[in-house]
Amino acid sequence: MQYKMFLIKYAEIGTKGKNRYVFEEAMCKRMRNRLKPYGEFEVRREYGRIYVEAFSDYDFDDVIKVLKQIFGIVGICPVKVVEDTAYDNISKAVIEYLDEEYKNKSFTFKCHARRNDKNYPKSSMELNCDLGADLLNAFPDLSVDVHNPEVMIEVEVRNVAYIYSKVIPGPGGLPVGTNGKAMALLSGGIDSPVAAYMIAKRGVELEAVYFNAPPYTSERAKQKVIDLAKQVSQYSGVLKLHIVNFTDIQLCIYDNCPHDELTIIMKRYMYKVAEELAMKEDCQCIVTGESIGQVSSQTTQSLLVIDSAIDKIPVFRPCIGMDKQEIIDISEMIGTYETSILPYEDCCTIFVDKHPVTRPKLDQILESEKALTGKIEELYAKAMESVEVVYCR
Ligand code: ATP
Ligand code: MG
Repeated sequence: MQYKMFLIKYAEIGTKGKNRYVFEEAMCKRMRNRLKPYGEFEVRREYGRIYVEAFSDYDFDDVIKVLKQIFGIVGICPVKVVEDTAYDNISKAVIEYLDEEYKNKSFTFKCHARRNDKNYPKSSMELNCDLGADLLNAFPDLSVDVHNPEVMIEVEVRNVAYIYSKVIPGPGGLPVGTNGKAMALLSGGIDSPVAAYMIAKRGVELEAVYFNAPPYTSERAKQKVIDLAKQVSQYSGVLKLHIVNFTDIQLCIYDNCPHDELTIIMKRYMYKVAEELAMKEDCQCIVTGESIGQVSSQTTQSLLVIDSAIDKIPVFRPCIGMDKQEIIDISEMIGTYETSILPYEDCCTIFVDKHPVTRPKLDQILESEKALTGKIEELYAKAMESVEVVYCR
């Protein structure tokens, strides 16, 4: 069946009171943009609901895939539209609908009819009873269960009639663009794309920064991060990726600081660069994929010392309390996992010590960083000047 229409269900936006239309409009705008390549569609708000109506042929799977990537949507209902609302027509359409939608017809159901034209010849109750009876006649293996039906058949009679019963789950969250902007630290790993996704899911627009260390890291490692950014952008919208050449800063730290502190000091410099870029790009927060205890630089002591490198912008870490498997599950769901596990080197792993500190003290780290004074400032400035920007979509 080629559905003429989809009813879009949303949840949290519904609690937004007077601002609700802002959220609805942001979601509709995103739906219009994303659906454009797949056919002619009209996305509209009507009777406090959102509908997508098709005016051309389209591929069902493509459309569902796109809608499942739009934050704010909790359910997508494919709708059969009946132009002539005479009762006999509706009844025939409901029987046809059930016949095509459900191969096996031995389940319990309930009809839930609504009409907004109070002059319609049947009341909602009458519609429920009569449609139920017609269905039982047509398919004798069906049975009615008004309390706990396996299938709820929704019938809405307006100037046309809508029939639907299936809800395809959407991603939930809030429409992107309704909650400011974040700078995500995107490495080639599993965690950071998941973290970026989770922040975008709360309606936050994204930019990202990747620290590259050529020739120690390869062009393929960089391409992997661009690919990950593109995958995240399916959800977040176009993503501006800042690629920072971090080699000279890393070498300077390597040459001047104790090697068991390298990762910590390096991360502190990553945060400093990220904060500066975030401020320049009007972002209100930084996002990372850290999770407590995952590696030595993610103990609470390490995170405290790394965090102390910056003081203007908060760092959000949506994976902080998650187990690795939970993070992997999300990365599989959003489609980044296969790319994340490609075996290209990351700048963090190249200069890593065999026995990194796990409980660094801020005083000690600040003392070690003194050796960088007079050397690193110029390298830092050069890194900032030579940032490469790639728009990922
Ligand atoms: P991921 O799976 O996201 O790579 P990880 O478990 O490997 O994370 P770390 O390498 O300790 O963890 O990095 C912690 C976080 O720091 C990452 O999630 C990411 O947000 C950021 N980060 C690490 N390396 C880079 C990099 N080269 N460029 C940008 N951000 C990075
Ligand atoms: Mg990593």
